Amino acid sequence: MDNYQQIAAWLAAASRTVVFTGAGISTESGIPDFRSPGGIWATSTPVEYHDFLESADARYEYWRQKAAAHRDYARCQPNIGHQVLAQWQARGRLRGLITQNIDELHQQAGSTGVLELHGTARKVKCLACDEIREADPWVAAFLESDQPPSCPACASPLFKHATISFGQALDRATLAKSMKLSQEADLFLALGSSLVVHPAAGLPQLARQRGARLVIITRDETPLDGLADLVLHEPLGAALEAIAAALP
Ligand SMILES: [Zn+2]
Repeated sequence: MDNYQQIAAWLAAASRTVVFTGAGISTESGIPDFRSPGGIWATSTPVEYHDFLESADARYEYWRQKAAAHRDYARCQPNIGHQVLAQWQARGRLRGLITQNIDELHQQAGSTGVLELHGTARKVKCLACDEIREADPWVAAFLESDQPPSCPACASPLFKHATISFGQALDRATLAKSMKLSQEADLFLALGSSLVVHPAAGLPQLARQRGARLVIITRDETPLDGLADLVLHEPLGAALEAIAAALP
C-alpha cells in the first residue's frame, strides 16, 4: 500500500474527518503566500489593527496595500486541490473545513460552511455596525477616488476588508467552532499550512491530543511533522488527486 492508498483508507474509515488548509493550497492557483519573498509584505509594512483604528493616514495606507493585493487574486480560480475537497464534502466524507486563507477559493470550488479563521478579503466590513459588502466595488472606488471609503450604512471610517489584521483578535465564534471540530475529529488533514501561525496551528495538536490520526501534506517541513501519522512534502493538488483516485 502506498502513501496515497494509506490516506485514502484512513479517509474511507473515518467518520469525523476535519480538513485544515493554509496558503499552500492556493499558491497552486497563483496566489502568492504573503510571507514568501514575492508577497506584498516583502515590500510593504502591514498596517496594524490599532493604527487602522486610530489614524486616517494608516487607513489610507491600509487601502493602498489591500487594493494592490486584491489584484493578485481577483482573477484566480480554484485548482484541483480545492475541487477534490469540495467533492469529498459533497459526498459526505468531511465533517468540517477550516482555512487560514482569505481568498474564498474553497467556496468558489463548491465547499460550504467553511470556517475562515482569518476572515475573507472578498468582502469588506464595518467595524462600527457590522455592515458587510462585496469587496470588488469598494476596491474599485478606492482606486478611482484615492480616498478610503466609509461605511455605506453608518458613515464610520472604520470600514475595512473582512480579514483579521495584524494585531486584531480572531473571531471568537469561528475559533470556538474550529476548536470543537478539531477536538472531535478522528482524522485531521493539515494541508498546505506551515503550521507556525498560532492559534491556528494549535488545531492539529488539539486533534492529535484527542486521538485523531494526523496527516500533514505541505511543501516544507513543519514543527508538527514529528506528531503526524504520515507526512508528505510534495505538491498538494497532485497529492489530493492521487488520494481521491485511491478511494474506494
Ligand atoms: Zn457601519
